[in-house]
Amino acid sequence: MKLHVINTGKFKLDGGAMFGVVPKTIWSKTNPADKNNMCSWAMRCLLIEDGDNKILIDTGIGNKQSEKFFQYFYLHGKENLAESLNQVNIHPDKITHVFFTHLHFDHCGGAIKKIKTDDDEDDILELMFKNAIHLTNKKHWDLANNPNKREKASFLKENFQLIEFKKRLQFINEGKLFPNISVKFFHGHTSSQMIPFIKINNKTLVFMADLLPSIGHIPLPYVMSYDTQPLITLQEKKIFLEEAADKKYILFLEHDYIYECCTVKKTDKGIRVDKYGKMEEFLL
Ligand SMILES: [Zn+2]
Repeated sequence: MKLHVINTGKFKLDGGAMFGVVPKTIWSKTNPADKNNMCSWAMRCLLIEDGDNKILIDTGIGNKQSEKFFQYFYLHGKENLAESLNQVNIHPDKITHVFFTHLHFDHCGGAIKKIKTDDDEDDILELMFKNAIHLTNKKHWDLANNPNKREKASFLKENFQLIEFKKRLQFINEGKLFPNISVKFFHGHTSSQMIPFIKINNKTLVFMADLLPSIGHIPLPYVMSYDTQPLITLQEKKIFLEEAADKKYILFLEHDYIYECCTVKKTDKGIRVDKYGKMEEFLL
């Protein structure tokens, strides 16, 4: 089994929204904000090559929305999904499974691409991974298609409806998905966010998605304002981070601007970061 980091680009989100009740005087020491109070974040995906299966976890923000939409997110950085796959010699048609942790736009947007047409014609949308089965769960799919007012701006139908239309959608449950990959659902950020646990080299790597966006979110009160049930996040994070410290999980950080992975340890102040760096250093 081989793992590859797939960088899909960077974007900006409001620092206050990212750190919830924690004041800027504290979070800005580790996450400096620009003049508009925006902080930079990665959209870092993971490709798993396991025998014949080529499983991509999340797909970044994609390219299909309007300029007006993207102007709120200040996309930057040289990387993009297609180029990063190309760098590891994987053609999009070879992807067998796309695993969505959840269907917020910065996690699933890359799965459907816009084909540029003449200015007077409507843009055409196509699956980026036409041979892949796209994995989510029934409860989350129903929410994404009938969102509450708070999450409505994060669930964009053009990011996922074509998958169902093309019959490339599959619902999964918690538990073992592949011999080396199992899935747990978490509910604080959004309903039934899917977190994959990957066994490799006698270690466990966990793709954290929005359960733990960055190293800055390790201390318990650092819960995003985007979370729909922050008290549930708090509980889920506490239990998960203790388990991660005990079992020495490698945490894969989708949104950390700099670091791909980290481990955590127990301290007098609670769980804190232990080591951080590139994924390959942790897998040795
Ligand atoms: Zn999210």
